[in-house]
Amino acid sequence: MFAYRGIKKSNSFIRVQKDKLPTMSQAEVVYRLNCKNCDASYVGQTGRCVGVRMSEHRNHINRNTTQSSVITEHRLQTSHDFNWDNIKILDKEKFWNKRMLSEMIHIKKQKYRLNLQNDTYKLDPLYESLFSTS
Ligand SMILES: [Zn+2]
Repeated sequence: MFAYRGIKKSNSFIRVQKDKLPTMSQAEVVYRLNCKNCDASYVGQTGRCVGVRMSEHRNHINRNTTQSSVITEHRLQTSHDFNWDNIKILDKEKFWNKRMLSEMIHIKKQKYRLNLQNDTYKLDPLYESLFSTS
């Protein structure tokens, strides 16, 4: 009896702690990065910590990924900067395929999206796998 209560208590404790994680420490999320100076925003997803992903976006100059370059392009072309300290968490989803789907929905909801069309096209094979009747 005592042991059972103990387990129950520690489980709920972990759950509460998990919900209270600061944005930068959260993982398996769909996030939105907003421009400080205009309505532009970028939606992405990551299975890792948001903080790690943000520093990649921020310092991507040396990297060769098209996904991050739209952010850098916007910064360079307009001298705008993004609200790096206030990342909006749009969804929390453990499963990669559901996270991708959620990302795509949120990409389309943006007023002025920096995301490339490719970001949603990449989901086509995923759609096929979701709706295939095999
Ligand atoms: Zn801007």
